[in-house]
Amino acid sequence: MRIPATYSIQPRTFHFRQPAGTSRGVYTTRKSWMLTLKAADGTEGKGECAPLPDLSYDWLPDYEEKLQRFCQLLIEKGSIPVAEMLPYPSMLFGMETAMLHLQRGSAALLDTPWSRGEEGIPINGLVWMGRIDEMMARIQQKLDEGFQCIKLKIGALGWKEETAMLQRIRREYDKEEVELRVDANGGFLPNEAPDVLEVLAAYGVHSIEQPIRAGQWDEMARLCRQSPVPIALDEELIGWHTRSERAHLLDHIRPSYIILKPSLHGGMQGVREWVELASERGIGSWITSALESNVGLNAVAQLTASIYGPGISLPQGLGTGMLYTDNIPYPLEMRGQKLWFKP
Ligand SMILES: [Mg+2]
Repeated sequence: MRIPATYSIQPRTFHFRQPAGTSRGVYTTRKSWMLTLKAADGTEGKGECAPLPDLSYDWLPDYEEKLQRFCQLLIEKGSIPVAEMLPYPSMLFGMETAMLHLQRGSAALLDTPWSRGEEGIPINGLVWMGRIDEMMARIQQKLDEGFQCIKLKIGALGWKEETAMLQRIRREYDKEEVELRVDANGGFLPNEAPDVLEVLAAYGVHSIEQPIRAGQWDEMARLCRQSPVPIALDEELIGWHTRSERAHLLDHIRPSYIILKPSLHGGMQGVREWVELASERGIGSWITSALESNVGLNAVAQLTASIYGPGISLPQGLGTGMLYTDNIPYPLEMRGQKLWFKP
């Protein structure tokens, strides 16, 4: 068992190939803090700490100082100060990644059929927000590349145009051919959501993420009870750090699915806990990355393979690693709709 003897923290700015339209505006760059741990024998472990501006619980002005303090604690204790780090999920995730990398001495952080290169993980094709005709062209491109599950952002362009787009998609592809997941990022009001859900059901949509803003538990619980389309929670899960808080949220809202991002929802150990609590309650889940570079994406995928594999059939949300012009090279590769690791 290797123990980290020293650490270093390197801020990095990554540049998007194309400006990325998200629910929080348009990003052209992305800042991460790369953490390197070094053992006495010279072995290094790298992890990425990547909070999302205005969304992460630990997006803080003194981010780097906090991370420094946790690294000092890590070196003193020889293990991750998990209890202290619960409110800092992106730092925890980066540190978990770096520790696994240090232990294994390889980017294959967890030993799974996926990390041995024996199988791929199916992922959804994410279509960025844009004008309707741009989005239609991007959907076609994803289908040509072999994706069968498409994820669309809705609730931002105008519901009329979005309905027209769903209609156009369904005129060409039925739900056996293309699984459609939509993400509203909280874009609808509780009183308009029921009609939206009816329309989505009519177009055979697989699920909707976060139809209304987080923090409205009673309204969300009512929608989950009545919705003809399965509802998935994402932002709702941010900021709940203990097992009992997480169980309470799931028991109160009773969603069909939860969508887990290690950087936002408690690091690797937090995601494992969420998945366990969900499956005890008959709630489905999948894992997604959160615009990390390849260092973080690899860690998210390693975790995904370890939790759900082997033979994952539900598409996961693992971005293709093609996001940045200056990404860090990693042995990750897309083949059709599957993400592979090349050991
Ligand atoms: Mg989402």
